[in-house]
Amino acid sequence: MRTIVISGASSGIGRATAERFAAAGDHVVNLDVNAPDPGGEPAGTWTEVDVADWTAVQEAVARVHQETGRLDVVIANAGISTRHGVLDMRESDVRRLVEVNLFGVLALWQQAARIMVEQGHGTLLATASVNGTRGYPYYADYNASKAGILALVRTFALELSPRVRAACVSPGAVLTPMQLAEYTDEMLKETNAQIPAGRHADPAEIASAFHYLASDEAAFLTGQELIIDGGETVGATTSAYGTAV
Ligand code: NAD
Repeated sequence: MRTIVISGASSGIGRATAERFAAAGDHVVNLDVNAPDPGGEPAGTWTEVDVADWTAVQEAVARVHQETGRLDVVIANAGISTRHGVLDMRESDVRRLVEVNLFGVLALWQQAARIMVEQGHGTLLATASVNGTRGYPYYADYNASKAGILALVRTFALELSPRVRAACVSPGAVLTPMQLAEYTDEMLKETNAQIPAGRHADPAEIASAFHYLASDEAAFLTGQELIIDGGETVGATTSAYGTAV
């Protein structure tokens, strides 16, 4: 039975990913600052950790390894977002966001990598975002934190190959509590219209990507970003001559 550590698995993408791995027979440990969302049986065990707390993250990972005797896959998924313009953002909000979204990944990956290098194998994964590479207004710090994850993916992959692989999934719009909190019905409709697939992703569709990246089927894949966005970043949904079919 593989040991899989996932941060932010109490809700949304992380929760769906935990369910996917647990259903396949893996032992899943969820590191999350919040308890699992009510509804259904949460997959795996929950350990309360704030991923912005570097020491607490590393101690939690070391404990999981001690208890299970292995560490196969780590998915740094916990993340937050705040809508604010570049002229108005406050230092405390920006610091918090970068500490959760970027330092949280680095702390988790560093400790996991030490263990994985020692045991001779392992896979480091993370949830980045299409906003790490495209321009997207009112989320400058969020976008920068996700671009930072892409840099971590490449650097960890180069330093740790061939024993440890590193990769990330970059979702486009996914219908999760994080996303719903920011939407009115009107905004949801408008966003769907800009996505060639005509809808948001279900969190389970991102979980499938993680399941593939963590498998032997992806043994030759490292240092890469897997974009799952319903075609959102490849171009416009309409041409100058009319609407798409
Ligand atoms: P969500 O809010 O449903 O889930 C986020 C989870 O992270 C929650 O369980 C929350 O408790 C946990 N978390 C937040 N701060 C934490 C902290 N400091 N320490 C530990 N846990 C913490 O959101 P989601 O949409 O499932 O987002 C998951 C990841 O996917 C995030 O990194 C987000 O940036 C990324 N993402 C989401 C979308 C989307 O459209 N929903 C798109 C691209 C990327």
